Amino acid sequence: MRIDPLAYLGEQLNEFRANGTYQRLRELQGPCEPVSKYDGKEVINLASNNYLGLANHPKLKEAAIAAIGKFGAGTGAVRTISGTLDMHMELERRIAAFKHVEACVVFQSGFTANAGTVSAVLGKEDHIISDELNHASIIDGCRLSRAKIHVFPHADVAVAEEKLAALVGVPGRKLLITDGVFSMDGDIGPLPALCALAEKYGAIMMVDDAHSSGVLGRNGRGTVDHFGLHGRVDIQVGTLSKAVGVLGGYVCGTKDFIEYLYHRARPFLFSTSHPPAVTAACLAAFDLLESEPERIEALWANTRYFKEELAKLGFDTGRSETPITPIFVGEAAAAHAFSKALFEEGLFATGIGFPTVPQGKARIRTIVTATHTREQLDRALEILARVARRMELL
Ligand SMILES: *Cc1c(COP(=O)(O)O)cnc(C)c1O
Repeated sequence: MRIDPLAYLGEQLNEFRANGTYQRLRELQGPCEPVSKYDGKEVINLASNNYLGLANHPKLKEAAIAAIGKFGAGTGAVRTISGTLDMHMELERRIAAFKHVEACVVFQSGFTANAGTVSAVLGKEDHIISDELNHASIIDGCRLSRAKIHVFPHADVAVAEEKLAALVGVPGRKLLITDGVFSMDGDIGPLPALCALAEKYGAIMMVDDAHSSGVLGRNGRGTVDHFGLHGRVDIQVGTLSKAVGVLGGYVCGTKDFIEYLYHRARPFLFSTSHPPAVTAACLAAFDLLESEPERIEALWANTRYFKEELAKLGFDTGRSETPITPIFVGEAAAAHAFSKALFEEGLFATGIGFPTVPQGKARIRTIVTATHTREQLDRALEILARVARRMELL
């Protein structure tokens, strides 16, 4: 009999079980809402990126259903062969206008947008200066490019400058890259200072606004708008999968840069385009971003309230300045046990530990949305305090 050559993976899983980091996928049994049903249980949902409550919005659903009626379920090809719908081009023009840039390209996801863009614009003779907490999709894009990667400590502008200064006179292009909002800590990247460095050292400036799209800046235009840096960030990446409520990633910049990506970004060239329902729902979401900015105000009002109350209770929430609020507990096993106990009491907040975050920095991550009521947030705070005291985390 043949021995399973993948048997070593089962041993790895046993190790996860032994150290308390084994995770089963929770099953969502209905729409993503402030209170959602997971694994047969109604829980307050602080585990989604559905910042503005658009994932189950009637206008997005109507648009998706109408698009299926008119265009069908799928597109039949990649964008560059025959799978570009007029609607795909409309969404790209719409986002470009929204972001005040010349052009935009939409990818299948934020992940493919980052990975496909970095690897398309740089080669092995080039240099990337990257924040140590940048998202996995940026890291993969950097690796795929085969450029030399120079990592600076999180948000440390002085070390970023040392790295750039050390490359003066060294051949190759330089790319300075940061997340706009950091997904695990909820802090905002030091964009104004990094832009100044990129200008001083002639580097390409790139920001990944996955958690800032729909959250920061006027009508959710992102960190460039938040800081008033229009025209100073060469590559802006955003996502359609979080606040926008659907699926996809986009890249904004000059017309030539975007056309180059049409020719060379591998996920764009080699993976099928978004189905009509996705694109139509995204267009409907941009209508709402522009017509109902009060959603973003509600998100920030909930964010301020929740953070203040967490602080009053004595929780350590680190350096967060956005709707992403981590609650630190120490080791990964403690974070997973805390998350599990909260779920049993009716609150869903994800436990996150090593290797997603450094050893000793394990946490549960909470994300409030615009559509949580004050009563739901109060109930969440009561559960958090009660379970944390019981587990001697407070
Ligand atoms: C979520 C996320 C992505 C990936 O976006 P998807 O559209 O979900 O693929 C990229 N970058 C950051 C910083 C993210 O948080």
